[in-house]
Amino acid sequence: MTSAQGWSATWTFCDGAWHEGNAPLWGARTHAIWLGSSVFDGARVFEGVAPDLDLHCARVNASAQAMSLRPRLSVEEWVGLVGEGRKRFAANATLYVRPMYWAERAGPMALPPDPDSTRFALTLYEAPMRKPDGFSITLSPFRRPTAETAPVEAKAGCLYPNNARAMLEAQSRGFDNCIMCDAAGNVAELANSNIFMARDGAVFTPIPNGTFLAGITRRRVIALLREAGVEVVETVLRYQDFENADEIFSTGNASKVLPVTRIGERALQPGPFYRKARALYWDFAHAKG
Ligand code: PMP
Repeated sequence: MTSAQGWSATWTFCDGAWHEGNAPLWGARTHAIWLGSSVFDGARVFEGVAPDLDLHCARVNASAQAMSLRPRLSVEEWVGLVGEGRKRFAANATLYVRPMYWAERAGPMALPPDPDSTRFALTLYEAPMRKPDGFSITLSPFRRPTAETAPVEAKAGCLYPNNARAMLEAQSRGFDNCIMCDAAGNVAELANSNIFMARDGAVFTPIPNGTFLAGITRRRVIALLREAGVEVVETVLRYQDFENADEIFSTGNASKVLPVTRIGERALQPGPFYRKARALYWDFAHAKG
């Protein structure tokens, strides 16, 4: 279902009540729209399950603290609210679940947020998952910031214009997505997800170094593959390692595990490790509910 404004079916909890559609949250003086103090997380409801919802709720609270905001809900309260919101959609709806915090006011020195003015909202909306038919990647000329140059320990809205310009630049050259490196030129992640490769029977992924979002799906997939007896190595990787990989796949909340089917001019097939990771994730999601 799509609203007159073109939004898919959407429900938002804010200021003690549920609102249908694209609920207005901010005013002209809200700190978040002026100075970028918003944090968010993204979880999923699909096929009647919401895997790792508690971890996504815990992360939005950690992101708030990293941005000097004051978390307003416990993980249990967030999870309970998501449960309420789900009931407003069909039981089999595919939803994006986005908890958010932001500062309403600046503190006395104008620049930093006033933590006492922290507000929160939870928005749920229908959003299909991407089909696992593969996508293409290239090397981005843009880099991830270091911990000294941006609040990379938070999943903060202010980090995303850099990823958006990287994705747009890749798309201008005919690719769907791109590998972003850190300041030292080591592979960090894709513009919107984490990246894995397989070579000679083992799986490799960049080791978290504080410059990129070491995602919840990434951590889950590593654990599932290891439990299944697959060797998964977190290490320093260069773009060339991916160019020479047997297979490449991505992980992220939005579409879970997807195959990369082209890097630069080289075509790739969805491989056995990708297939195993995706199947293990689906088993996990349905086992845990
Ligand atoms: N990196 C970036 C930049 C992202 O936006 C996401 C999506 N949240 C990820 C990685 C994957 O993280 P997760 O598995 O926690 O969704």
